[in-house]
Amino acid sequence: MTTSTAEPLRVALWLAAQSYAVHPLAPGGKVPVRGCTRCSPGTTERPNPAYIEHDGRTCSCHAAGRPCHGVLAATTDPHRIARWWEHMPAAGVGVAAGPSGLVILDVDCHGGDMPTDLERLLPGVELPADIAPGSIVDGRDVLALLVEARRATLPGCAPETLTVRTPSGGFHYWFRAPAGTVWRPQAGALGWQLDVRAGSSYAVAPGTVTRDGAYTALGDCRTVAELPVWLARDLDRTGHRIRPERPRVALPWRSRRMGGGYVATAVENELRAVAEAQPGTRNATLNRAAFNLGTLRVVGHLEHDQLADVLCDAARHAGLPGREAEAAIRSGLSAGERHPRTTLTGAAA
Ligand SMILES: [Zn+2]
Ligand SMILES: [Zn+2]
Repeated sequence: MTTSTAEPLRVALWLAAQSYAVHPLAPGGKVPVRGCTRCSPGTTERPNPAYIEHDGRTCSCHAAGRPCHGVLAATTDPHRIARWWEHMPAAGVGVAAGPSGLVILDVDCHGGDMPTDLERLLPGVELPADIAPGSIVDGRDVLALLVEARRATLPGCAPETLTVRTPSGGFHYWFRAPAGTVWRPQAGALGWQLDVRAGSSYAVAPGTVTRDGAYTALGDCRTVAELPVWLARDLDRTGHRIRPERPRVALPWRSRRMGGGYVATAVENELRAVAEAQPGTRNATLNRAAFNLGTLRVVGHLEHDQLADVLCDAARHAGLPGREAEAAIRSGLSAGERHPRTTLTGAAA
């Protein structure tokens, strides 16, 4: 393998090792590879006669390792990933936001006419009265206005979270969804040229080269910080958060002390996310929780075995089969421990 063909596989495995679920993108483009003939409906103009209508979420192609149904095929399984890129070494790497527990702020920079109605720049946000005409050119300026209105700072100038520059000059800020929270993607709901990738959407991973250019990680930061509280509030306010309809379950392990302060809350949230996970997302949620708790072990002075125990309890609560859950917990915790968090501010160092 040459360096260039090894690169997408290397990136995909690196992401998967951190519990991010990946799927292949058609070489040179940014759309997922087409599935097998049975699974590809084709286009409206050219429908695929061999397509059989079925639910992509439960398609047997996933278990067989075929990359059908785009983000629905996304996985953290290194064997499946290795096999995909062995067959398509030039495929780009997509990261499925929801299964990866990611909320990605997509700041567009494609110009276009600024909305004349200033209220549409950042709906619901009070803006300074003295915005000069022509000073708002693209999503970067709108984001700067939001950051200023919230008296916040956003990773980016000195990246504190993985930030990817897109071929069109835009930016993707990657954030971890706070444990137990679920988000939906929307375009422009937060602000003009500010889109959100979450849930069923995906982002192109850094290192992927398309016909339009390369997606590159900015600066040296390769870790993903938790979604800042101020931004989570604005995303909630603008309809990006999905709230569970079910009442929260009572957790049997609450009495067990696991760290203090920030760590105790993080542990509690991760366990709750696992215990309340729905079939279909339970495995991904468990993998992510084990990884996240692994990253916290050192700062929280937590015992590996104790963490494994409470995670097993939570997995059982969610109805996950014991042996499968134990294997996922072991590998997730170990992977997280290899990427320890060293600060407690939520920005992984
Ligand atoms: Zn298929
Ligand atoms: Zn299928």
